[in-house]
Amino acid sequence: MMLKILRRIVQEVSSTPNFGEALQILVKRIREAISTQACTVFLIDRKQEEFVLLATEGLNPASVGQVRLKFKQGLIGLVGHREEPINLENAPTHPNFFHSPEVGEERFRAFLGVPIIHHRQLLGILVVQQEESRRFDETEEAFLVTMAAQLGGIIAHAEAVGQLALLFNQSKTDNLQSLCLRGIASAPGIGMGTVVVSYPLADLDAVPDRKTKRIAKEMAVFQQAMSAARSEIYALKERMANTLPAEENLLFEAYLRILDSATLEREITQEIEHGNWAQGALRTIINRHIRQFESMDDDYLRERATDIRDLGRRILCHLQKGHRSVVEYPKQTILAGEEVTAAALAEVPEGTLTGIVATRGSSSSHVAIMARALGIPTVLGVEGLPVTQLEGKELIIDGYQGQIYIHPSKKLRKNCAKLIEQQSQINADLAELRDLPAQTLDGHRIALWVNTGLATDAGLSLTAGAEGIGLYRTEIPFMNRDHFPTEEEQYIIYRQLLNAFAPRPVIMRTLDVGGDKALPYFPIREDNPFLGWRGIRITLDHPEIFLMQVRAMLRANNGLNNLRIMLPMITTVTETDDALQLIQQAYEEILTENSNIIRPPVGVMLEVPSAIYQTFALAKRVDFLSVGSNDLTQYLLAVDRNNSRVASLYDGLNPAVLHALHQAVKSAQQLNKPISICGELASDPAAAIILLGMGFNALSMNSAAIPRIKWTIRNFTLRKAKELLNTVLKMDTGKEIRQYLEQALRDNGLENLLNDGKIPEKAN
Ligand code: PEP
Ligand code: MG
Repeated sequence: MMLKILRRIVQEVSSTPNFGEALQILVKRIREAISTQACTVFLIDRKQEEFVLLATEGLNPASVGQVRLKFKQGLIGLVGHREEPINLENAPTHPNFFHSPEVGEERFRAFLGVPIIHHRQLLGILVVQQEESRRFDETEEAFLVTMAAQLGGIIAHAEAVGQLALLFNQSKTDNLQSLCLRGIASAPGIGMGTVVVSYPLADLDAVPDRKTKRIAKEMAVFQQAMSAARSEIYALKERMANTLPAEENLLFEAYLRILDSATLEREITQEIEHGNWAQGALRTIINRHIRQFESMDDDYLRERATDIRDLGRRILCHLQKGHRSVVEYPKQTILAGEEVTAAALAEVPEGTLTGIVATRGSSSSHVAIMARALGIPTVLGVEGLPVTQLEGKELIIDGYQGQIYIHPSKKLRKNCAKLIEQQSQINADLAELRDLPAQTLDGHRIALWVNTGLATDAGLSLTAGAEGIGLYRTEIPFMNRDHFPTEEEQYIIYRQLLNAFAPRPVIMRTLDVGGDKALPYFPIREDNPFLGWRGIRITLDHPEIFLMQVRAMLRANNGLNNLRIMLPMITTVTETDDALQLIQQAYEEILTENSNIIRPPVGVMLEVPSAIYQTFALAKRVDFLSVGSNDLTQYLLAVDRNNSRVASLYDGLNPAVLHALHQAVKSAQQLNKPISICGELASDPAAAIILLGMGFNALSMNSAAIPRIKWTIRNFTLRKAKELLNTVLKMDTGKEIRQYLEQALRDNGLENLLNDGKIPEKAN
């Protein structure tokens, strides 16, 4: 029984998106579960070194967010200090009892406080209290201890993603203060501007709050939507009357009753009167009702939450009719949302978009690739982003470090404006390097290529001085359609790109979906997608898709002859042999149609650890190799490349990664096969010197990074790069390696690159 209740509480709490509300639900449920009179949670505000009362049922609700206790203060302090439960029959007589008048706990005697601990760290205290003088019994104590242990993870997560800081901030000023949240750096650069929230229509939870002064207008819009919803349901009821059993048809009666009930309408209009627009008011009130129903013990009543949700959605649809067209984009627009789609990005008028931030997505999302191509600073995967509260707020995006600042202080804004200015100055200076080779001071040349997924990117890449395309991610044109593109459709896209770059080489990678890259028309559901059906594994299982793609590539190459084909996610030699055989088959077929077609060079990606240890065997079979450092780092270090919780462990300079790269280059060189690197690592100046020293023939990166890397290479000798490599290969940690290489950059006059655009940690 206890277990069932416990599970239900944990589930409800962890599924409530707003952390403040989650805590309030928590204390309410615990109080009910052990039939006591008060339940309260205090969490630690590390910045202030205080316990803050963040939710209570039974004590004075006005004390939420207001009551703060020093670490050693009161019984709370004692529980925290001892890190064990304290169970008292008569708390006020305890020498540590501390009376704060605003809490309203005078009448309570019995006290049980339990520490909330996660990974050895104290996060807060959970307390139950009762008037009667008695000890809470063992079952109650066990229940609370188990509850606190489960809560640890939830709270630690809220802390990691900045939700906790958000609560502490609100508790102090009732306003969003300058606040920094972390996500995944998805397109480099610093962007500053005003938020426009991008949200899908007909999704109640996605509706943002929006302040309005035109209350009468919002009121009228709301009334119209209500009566439209009423007529709609009435019509549905009439239509279904003959087909549905009478009992089921009662549902519509119930809907109409809810719509007609004065409460719902009154609550929503009150919310509008407080200055929220109709859609935001609707979301607030409907969600409140949904939660009420969901918390009921009776299964039938709990189900009513679904009805309310459906009704809310219907009213919303009427509210949203024709609404999209009136979005006004500020001169400097930051697009924010749960998910920002490529289409939403395209809706923003040219020249006004200065940044993108979203809860979902990763650096390999379509929108990230587009943002990199367009040079728009982007941070995705920001869990806990308070999307609904962001409309019209000032925001700074740090696309280098994957951070965003909500409501930045004046000082931070000034600093960032300066950084943006410096950046454009550096860019202007670097533009002069465009036509110069990436050549070291002692005359060694290395090719700089670009990673891309958009044909329209070709122009930008050439402007940046790219000497070829080191990775064309063919899945991108596969993503924005609702079916696999035909051979002809693919031919047109590939031809355009090969043509734009000829005679420079273009390495086209065969379809690499699965993992985090899904096609809307080819869903794959797996528990471990990164270890599942992805890349070459899929295309070998579907030779028809592979052959169609290869045929399109071979035909597009006709007369241009700058195509190279690359195979992703190779784990075994057999996969390589099978893929080579299919390519040969496509080639022979096409030869019968057109004898001018050539067999292009074919290479494999080294992005799985097993491929590193088989580089020699692979190199024997193919014409070139290319390291995919993004996946290689993820698989070597067992760190999900898109999971911000473990982002600090994801380090391309980790000695394991460097030794793997070094070994791959040595194997390739034994057979005289060219080896390049694509993936984000090559765009890091510190890493680029080491890659140069290892002997990579080409570095491929996003086009925005090319000028900086060219500058780096032109300021080093190959001899020095090799020397640095030998030193760092003897080091034990990524941190040590990074510090050492950054010092080398400074010594070589590249200080500016290190601070380039980066917001100093203490600037806020
Ligand atoms: C890589 O894994 O490094 C790579 C370049 O491929 P993608 O990022 O598309 O997986
Ligand atoms: Mg990859």
